[in-house]
Amino acid sequence: MSYNIAIDGPAGAGKSTIARAIAKRLNIIYVDTGAMYRGMALYMLRRGISPDDSQAVIAHCSEADITLKYENGTQVVCLNGENVNDCIRTEEVGNATSKISALPPVRERITALQRQLAAASDCIMDGRDIGTCVLPDADVKIYLTASSAVRARRRYDELTAKGQSCDLAQIQADMEERDYRDMHRMVSPLRQAEDAVLVDSSDMTPEQVMETILKLCRKR
Ligand code: C5P
Repeated sequence: MSYNIAIDGPAGAGKSTIARAIAKRLNIIYVDTGAMYRGMALYMLRRGISPDDSQAVIAHCSEADITLKYENGTQVVCLNGENVNDCIRTEEVGNATSKISALPPVRERITALQRQLAAASDCIMDGRDIGTCVLPDADVKIYLTASSAVRARRRYDELTAKGQSCDLAQIQADMEERDYRDMHRMVSPLRQAEDAVLVDSSDMTPEQVMETILKLCRKR
């Protein structure tokens, strides 16, 4: 049986930074499930399919073959064989992703792949429904959150550091809208699993969050 850590939480809570660092420390793989949904959303945008057109997204989702591979420990998302890591991190793709990921046929395809990965390898997997739906028997479950103002500021700093121009208030508004959609969708909404430990990182450094989670892993 493989060892699995599940981290769920809203956008910008720091899940990926923390999960990547823990994966390195524990020498396990990091599975960024948001990136898989982002790959699917990118496919729709490239085909000119509106993420609001659920019928069209459902009709075309089986055309998008999303796979993961690891290069020097880094996760690479492939869309029909093409490395799309550099194309999926925009706010446009993020917002489209939160729409298409509410659709059951999209979730079924991607959830199956996530379960295969977790069964085959020790991993830390982050997302919205890992502890509640994808890996209900995960060894450790964390719900990582922070206030929306703190999360928006972190995303703003991240984007400006990459040279992308952006507006802080707009980022916070988009993030709150996205969280609302993720928490209120019919299938696999974002919520804390009953057996998940809540970690609020609003006033914590990444190192403190990491130590808190590593302690929980050591207890198991
Ligand atoms: O984590 P990230 O911001 O990359 O996720 C983008 C979107 O993908 C989320 O807003 C959510 O709608 C969707 N997602 C999901 N289930 C997951 C991971 C991400 O629905 N396990």
